[in-house]
Amino acid sequence: MRVFGLTGGIASGKTTVARRIEERGVPVVYADQLARDAVAKGSDGLAAIVATFGDDVLLPNGELDRRALGARTFGDKAMLAKLNAIVHPRVGALALEAFSALATKGHALVCYEVPLLVENGLADMFRPVVVVAASHARQLERTLRRDNLSEEEARARIASQRPLEEKVAVADFVIENDGTLEQLLERTDEVLAAVRGWGRAP
Ligand code: ATP
Repeated sequence: MRVFGLTGGIASGKTTVARRIEERGVPVVYADQLARDAVAKGSDGLAAIVATFGDDVLLPNGELDRRALGARTFGDKAMLAKLNAIVHPRVGALALEAFSALATKGHALVCYEVPLLVENGLADMFRPVVVVAASHARQLERTLRRDNLSEEEARARIASQRPLEEKVAVADFVIENDGTLEQLLERTDEVLAAVRGWGRAP
C-alpha cells in the first residue's frame, strides 16, 4: 500500500481536495484528527500534557483547554518543543495504526493529510507529496470569511507557517487553487490520476 502526502497553507483548500479524494474512493487519514485523538479525555497524551503544563490547561469537564494551552505555547519555543514531544510520537503511532487497518482492508492507496508535513520534515516519508497552493490574497480572503478573524489575526496565522514556496519546492504535484471550486475539483481528479500512476513504468 502506498501512502501519499497532502499539504498546503492555511485555507489553501486542503480539506476540499481531501474530500474529493475520498469521493474518488481513496481513504484519507487526517493528522489534525489524530492530534485531537492523541490528547482526548482519558488518553495518556492528555495525562502527559497535564504532568508538564499543570491542570490549568484542562476545562472543567476534563477535556484539554486548547486556548489555554495555545496561550502557554504561543511564541515560546521551549514550551512548544515540549508539547510536540508529547503529541508527535502519539500521532505517529495512531497514523501507523490507521494505515495498517486500511492495508488490512485491501486499500492500495491512502492519502495522509498533514497541514505541517513540510515543517515537520515528513515529506520524504509520504511520496508523492501533493501541495495545494493558493495566493496569499486568496488565503487571506478565505481565512477572513471562514474563521471570522480580524485581518491582523488572519495575517499572523498565515505568517506562522513556512512560506508556500518552501512547500511547493518539495512537492511532486501542485494543485493551484486561485480559481473556482469547479476548477479545483477538476485539477484534483487530474492529480489523483497521476498519483495512482506514480512509480509505474510509462
Ligand atoms: P485549513 O487548513 O485552514 O482548515 P484548508 O486548506 O483545509 O484550510 P479548505 O477548508 O478546503 O482549506 O478551504 C477554505 C475555505 O475556502 C472553505 O470555506 C472552502 O469552501 C473555501 N474554498 C476553497 N477553495 C475555494 C475555491 N476555489 N473557490 C471558493 N471557495 C473556496
